Amino acid sequence: MSSLPDSVSVSDNPVHPEFTPKGAPIQLGVLEQMDPEAMLRWALDQYGARAGIITSFQDTGCVLVDMMSRHAPGMRVITIDTLRLHPETLSHIDAIVKRYGLNLERFTPDPDALERMVRTHGEYLFFDSKAKQEYCCSVRKVEPNRRALATLDVWFTGLRRDQSTFRAVTPRAQWIKVDNRSILKLAPLADWPESRVLEYIREHGIPRNPLLEQGYKSIGCVICTTPVLPHEPARAGRWRWFNALGQEDKKECGIHIHGSGI
Ligand code: SF4
Repeated sequence: MSSLPDSVSVSDNPVHPEFTPKGAPIQLGVLEQMDPEAMLRWALDQYGARAGIITSFQDTGCVLVDMMSRHAPGMRVITIDTLRLHPETLSHIDAIVKRYGLNLERFTPDPDALERMVRTHGEYLFFDSKAKQEYCCSVRKVEPNRRALATLDVWFTGLRRDQSTFRAVTPRAQWIKVDNRSILKLAPLADWPESRVLEYIREHGIPRNPLLEQGYKSIGCVICTTPVLPHEPARAGRWRWFNALGQEDKKECGIHIHGSGI
């Protein structure tokens, strides 16, 4: 079973809005060159409540939220709560919400789909096969994310190219198609190395998820996320039991897979 709703793809049909709702031209090449702060300002100014950050409050997402608070205050901030997050993650989210006074929007799995999945396959279906892991991610993450995207025309994400080989080609600006609608997906920090993110976090005193101090590098759900050893890539701790499949670079929950690209 695929984790991807069929209707989410990188558009192969180049029919996109050419102008923002306020009439400014939309040029991916220009956005690619914009600094992150300017990108946030531009999106809020041009799209208002149709622009938002979707974040799981890992380091890069927290940097984006911090930048937003300084340069585009009031922009919407959304998180996907899979209902299987670590207590440390939930406390960290609360700390960030409090620090920045966020009106955080939480999208959770559809209760009926969740109940059906657990009744049919059990709570721990992700151990059984890659297909069942993808099914679980589609119910707990991808579908709520898709519902969140239905409320946006501009999606800010904290993806970075050095997070995995799969993410190495992440554009800073791209069009994706969701439910037959074009959405501008912006990853303003895509070209930032981890060292720059950490420097920003230190400089601005931004709280970090306490799991990072325990050896976690990439944080998702309980059980599906484990700490990594110093020599391991960041995402080796995600769905560790699939590492033997030799598809380390393909370990994604599906939120950032759009057709054949990222
Ligand atoms: S990370 Fe694990 S528990 Fe979370 S949605 Fe994916 S498979 Fe399910």
